[in-house]
Amino acid sequence: MHRPRRTRIIATLGPASDNFEMIKKLSEAGADVFRLNMSHGDHATTTKLYNIVREVEKETGRPIGVLADLQGPKLRIGEFSGGSIDLETGQTFILDMIDTPGDEKRVQLPHPEIYEAVQPNTELLLNDGKIRLLIDKVEKQKITTTVKVGGELSNRKGVNVPSAILPLAALTEKDKKDLSFALDLGVDWIALSFVQRPEDVKEARNLVDGRASIMAKIEKPSAVHAIDEIIALSDGVMVARGDMGVEMPMEQVPPKQKKIIRHARRAGIPAVVATQMLESMITSPVPTRAEVSDVANAVFDGADAIMLSAESAAGMYPEEAVSMMNRIALSIEREPSYRRMLNRDSTMPEATTADAISAAAKQVAKTIEAQAIVCYTGSGSTALRASRERPQAPLLVLTPNIGTARRLALVWGLNCVYSQDAVNFQDMIDKACTVCHEYGYAAIDDRIVIMAGMPFGTPGKTNVLRISRVQNSHVKI
Ligand code: PGA
Ligand code: MN
Repeated sequence: MHRPRRTRIIATLGPASDNFEMIKKLSEAGADVFRLNMSHGDHATTTKLYNIVREVEKETGRPIGVLADLQGPKLRIGEFSGGSIDLETGQTFILDMIDTPGDEKRVQLPHPEIYEAVQPNTELLLNDGKIRLLIDKVEKQKITTTVKVGGELSNRKGVNVPSAILPLAALTEKDKKDLSFALDLGVDWIALSFVQRPEDVKEARNLVDGRASIMAKIEKPSAVHAIDEIIALSDGVMVARGDMGVEMPMEQVPPKQKKIIRHARRAGIPAVVATQMLESMITSPVPTRAEVSDVANAVFDGADAIMLSAESAAGMYPEEAVSMMNRIALSIEREPSYRRMLNRDSTMPEATTADAISAAAKQVAKTIEAQAIVCYTGSGSTALRASRERPQAPLLVLTPNIGTARRLALVWGLNCVYSQDAVNFQDMIDKACTVCHEYGYAAIDDRIVIMAGMPFGTPGKTNVLRISRVQNSHVKI
């Protein structure tokens, strides 16, 4: 249970990690949250994975978060009669609405919205940006282009349109089906791909209707531009570097990563850094030095969570990838410069009791060298504020709401314990002491700091800060 690491690890599940033994190994190696990618796998497989995660959770006793990642409005070309073609740089290539197999001269692009949204002299990117087409002419159902960078192009490859906000719904018909399936399953987080505007998050929120938290994936330039509005409407954000590095020049991704993390922390919502973090570990048991550096720098940037995609879903070394992330994060978090960075990027508490108590708890814990801060929370909002302060002492979150415990599993530094609410002041102290002691955070006579809201059992504001010495209380938690 005692997990000293503050930065959280998200591992995507897939064919390389689709059984109890492996998922348990990943959890023990350090995965705090599992991601179910709705772009792959059918509902039966996803249900199986979800149920295994819950079994692992039962066995390990640590609440685990599950994030369902919706595919979103990903654009794709149609098919070719020969399966693929070779595009020559400089040639003309046409995209149209004709539903017949393509060839060297043309292929179907079955998204009518694009024809109205794009302009001549802007680019279309195909196959993860490997192929670049410059638009010469736009007609009602036909786009004529010149190939700027050619290469092989095969069936149903993705299309990115970085220059335009497309009049596409935030959720496709597939997404809506996947969403209602994932909510029925009981996932804790829903990730929205290709968010273009703040309204996209609003629309999803209406459909989700409080049944899960919402993570906006930032991968479009328009989302980067509207980042603060999107953050204000979301419960979390993901720096989705894969598509972001296609939609904008790759060298702009690192500063965007830093900015998004900073702004999310200011708002008090978790930020996830995703994609290609340990990419070479898909086929190699050790990462490259550059990848280690990338993971380390995401931690230094103050990310709440770092994510594995194919490394854990389809790679040869899922467990090694998780333990590598674990080691990197632990090592960076021990650096004095990490603490300096966290302090540098901290912002003032807001004028609320929860923020006042959170900031005070951090300061008090530092002054008296408390071994832990225990935070009672129902909805999780107080724990988010406590995490936002990035205290040096470990944070233990006690909540009678298992959904809250699971949702908070991807937030910086929060160690959640599912427990009955305190019934009175003494019980509040006893439970906190018992948890700190039993989970190995504090020894008898060590001091801890407790944050809670009175009266107990009613969703009230956090208004109590209590310093206690750990007693041999052993109450039921
Ligand atoms: P994806 O999102 O893996 O679902 O595309 C992450 C990214 O684009 O980086
Ligand atoms: Mn993406």
